[in-house]
Amino acid sequence: MASPLAATAFGQVTRLAAERRVHQAFRWLHLQEQAVFAWQQELVEIPAPPFGEGPRAEWLAQRFRELDLRDVVTDEAGNVIGRMPGMDEAAGCVVLSAHIDTVFPAGTVIEPRVEGRRLHAPGACDNGAGVAGMLALATALREAELQPACDVYFVGNTGEEGGGDLRGIRHLYQHAPWRERIRGHIVLDGAGDSVAITHALASLRFRAVVRGPGGHAWTDAGSLNPILVLSRAIARLGEIVLPSSPRTTLNIGSIRGGTAINAIPEEAEASFDLRSTDPEQLIRLEVEVHRATEDAVLSANLEMATRLAGQRSALHLAGQRLRFAVEKIGDRPGGRLPEDSRLMGLLLAVDRQLGLRTEPRVASTDANLPLSLGVPALTLGAGGQGGGIHTQAEWYDATNRELALRRVLLLLLATADASSSKEA
Ligand SMILES: [Zn+2]
Repeated sequence: MASPLAATAFGQVTRLAAERRVHQAFRWLHLQEQAVFAWQQELVEIPAPPFGEGPRAEWLAQRFRELDLRDVVTDEAGNVIGRMPGMDEAAGCVVLSAHIDTVFPAGTVIEPRVEGRRLHAPGACDNGAGVAGMLALATALREAELQPACDVYFVGNTGEEGGGDLRGIRHLYQHAPWRERIRGHIVLDGAGDSVAITHALASLRFRAVVRGPGGHAWTDAGSLNPILVLSRAIARLGEIVLPSSPRTTLNIGSIRGGTAINAIPEEAEASFDLRSTDPEQLIRLEVEVHRATEDAVLSANLEMATRLAGQRSALHLAGQRLRFAVEKIGDRPGGRLPEDSRLMGLLLAVDRQLGLRTEPRVASTDANLPLSLGVPALTLGAGGQGGGIHTQAEWYDATNRELALRRVLLLLLATADASSSKEA
């Protein structure tokens, strides 16, 4: 073994894996795959668009109550929370969460279709797999009468996708009465059994709006055009050379504006998504987004003023100016699980025990928030395979799901051990 810490972690995991009740939990996961698959089908059928997660939350709260989880609540942010009491209820606690929202807007037709072990439906994998996996784990623990060393909070959270800006998990860390006790947080998101997201990718999102007087295409010709001016800003942003290391991206995700083909638009709007493994790059890009918009608007206004000074005939253009605003609409903080952290050591030990190769990744998930606050956290797949993520053709295949669930179960119990007062 590489270090005494790693040896301790491996010893701890080996001991856990040999426990009779842990075997019973594994057996439940093996025998009850059909039940887990049925839950997944049931839950993906309930629409959960961003800011419309209510009905799915209600369904999950009902499952939590049937499992006899304690203190089941739906909080102000729409998160569904249930507590599994640990042997030591006064110690720290551990969170296992899965986002319940989908990327699909309200009104999306969702008709789940099953082919063998494959479920076809928008959201089947992201995050039908995570939520079903979380329920499976809570049930397996219950059925095996396995009591974790400290309290485990199961959370079906809102606001992970699209414009949600992690509002569910953010709320949890700002308002949950037990937030100060959190010693570890495992997020389940999508499929897979070897990837572990341990490096949280920071991202910033902006909306730029340019407004003008608008007018008729013919009679007001020559008026300042917000679409044209915003396009100049976008073109300039498109020319920025972004570093590949640290990997940094700038996406122009949407553009809207104007009302009719024969009208000069009164408004144009674009949205930008900035990501980087290095927060400094984000600050630099944030400045670029502001500067590109501001420069485009100011130079158009200046051009107009110059034009008016030279041609008195264009009196109808007098006083014309464009206005602009750049608004921050998303801020996902970054962070990293330290290589020498207890949680990382336990994950490596669990993967070694199960013969899995740990593949650390960088991504933007619910784990961003705890990691940014220094709470040990990571995001794991909930097993099986998935594809067509965020499209109508999304699918999930449950083959070998139990391996990943065994991984999460061992990691959860080991983290709870490490968080109880005997070791904390
Ligand atoms: Zn997801």
